[in-house]
Amino acid sequence: GTTVYAVASGKGGVGKTTTTVNLGTALAGAGKRVAIVDADLGMANLAGFVSLSPDGPTLHDVLAGDADVPDATYEVADGIAAIPSGTELEAFADTDATGLGEAIDRLRGEFDYVLLDVGAGVSHESVLPLGIADEVLLVSTPEPASVQDVRKTIDLVDRAGGSVAGLVVTRGRPDGDVSHEEIASQLGVDLLGSIPEDPTARDSVYAGTPLVVHEPEAPAATAYRQLAATLADDV
Ligand code: ADP
Ligand code: MG
Repeated sequence: GTTVYAVASGKGGVGKTTTTVNLGTALAGAGKRVAIVDADLGMANLAGFVSLSPDGPTLHDVLAGDADVPDATYEVADGIAAIPSGTELEAFADTDATGLGEAIDRLRGEFDYVLLDVGAGVSHESVLPLGIADEVLLVSTPEPASVQDVRKTIDLVDRAGGSVAGLVVTRGRPDGDVSHEEIASQLGVDLLGSIPEDPTARDSVYAGTPLVVHEPEAPAATAYRQLAATLADDV
């Protein structure tokens, strides 16, 4: 069957898109069929992480009823397809996210994993995917402001009728951080992964290539493969 994960956080800029792209690429590298979906409808930027410039419809067109899901699905590498969103402000202004659940259901059966890159915050567009997904992967840096905002996301998952898989701590530093296990236990969730602060994460964005491909031996790349193995017991 297909597992749909929402990759979500309270705060922005904590590594959701990086996690979506690299977890997805790591799962694809292990032979899984993966779709990564830019569900950050207001601040879409996933396509750039994989050097995709869509020459056709995007998720915004699907939600507007102007395109079918397959037309907005682009193969970006072996075993991995991306569903980008429009990056123009007008595209967002005209968007009603109500059809997202139906669009995501169209991907079930086609892929082993569907990863939804969700917008930060508490807007309708950010909350909807939390209930559509089978499981929510919470993303936070170790910083208190980020952790505090994840508490809100956990409440929102409950309200949306969703289910939390656990926490991925990003941008961890070897010393000075509160232990990531401790952060997860304070939130009452499982720690699924710990991604270290790694300058190659940023380099890979500029290169338009996922970190796990761009710099496979980099510490963060290794940590993303580890996360993939934690989520898929046969990876
Ligand atoms: P979000 O999608 O939550 O807004 P991004 O994935 O776009 O966050 O990441 C925000 C910034 O943090 C980007 O510049 C990215 O390159 C950087 N970043 C993400 N993960 C790491 C990491 N493990 N180490 C260093 N920089 C990172
Ligand atoms: Mg993002």
